Amino acid sequence: SVHIGVLAVQGDVREHIRTVEALGGRASAIRRPSELAGIDGLIIPGGESTAIDKLTRAFDLAVPLQELIASGLPVYGSCAGMIMLADAIADPATDLQGRPQQTLGGLDIVVRRNAFGRQRESFETELEFSGLPPDSSGKVQPVHAVFIRAPWVERVGPSVEVLAQVPAQTVDLTGQHPDAGRVARIVAVRSGNLLATSFHPEVTGERRIHELFMQMIVRRTVDHVGAL
Ligand code: GLN
Repeated sequence: SVHIGVLAVQGDVREHIRTVEALGGRASAIRRPSELAGIDGLIIPGGESTAIDKLTRAFDLAVPLQELIASGLPVYGSCAGMIMLADAIADPATDLQGRPQQTLGGLDIVVRRNAFGRQRESFETELEFSGLPPDSSGKVQPVHAVFIRAPWVERVGPSVEVLAQVPAQTVDLTGQHPDAGRVARIVAVRSGNLLATSFHPEVTGERRIHELFMQMIVRRTVDHVGAL
């Protein structure tokens, strides 16, 4: 079975471990660089991206993680994890010394943190998500997505495939946002071996996103063997 590491410096680590195990995978918490050996994929959980950034660097995990991403390790980031995978943040937080938060990068996207605004700090909605398999009735069921102070993807590079968007009319129900009702917002993307969602499938019992990620891991392994 595939072995997935879950970055465990801060955030909802346990929910991801449970979801991977429910799908028959092996999951382990990653807190130090030596624990990265032998993993087939990595999940960066939701939480607080400024804390995950600081702790990842403090535990000497940032550089090895960037090397693994560059070498093609499949990585899935949810919410704060999406922020950590983004090449750029539109509105990075700064620490007391005025230094902006950093990301690991790898995904050619610009994200905006806490983007849905105060009225919509947390919300749930049904999303169409491309690339998911149909159920026994032949229909692809929507994803019940939970957003918690979630980022959205404000710009994507040419290599990035958009998998899901929050429709314009759902983005701001109060109508106060200048974009209200006009602009759909990207909340799930894939590029190469990297997958990211603004929402948290691990908290709703939704398993198809993790299943998709595990398929990406298996395909990567096959591609690699095929190339030998
Ligand atoms: N707002 C958080 C951040 O900027 C992300 C929230 C989450 O992961 N649920 O890191």
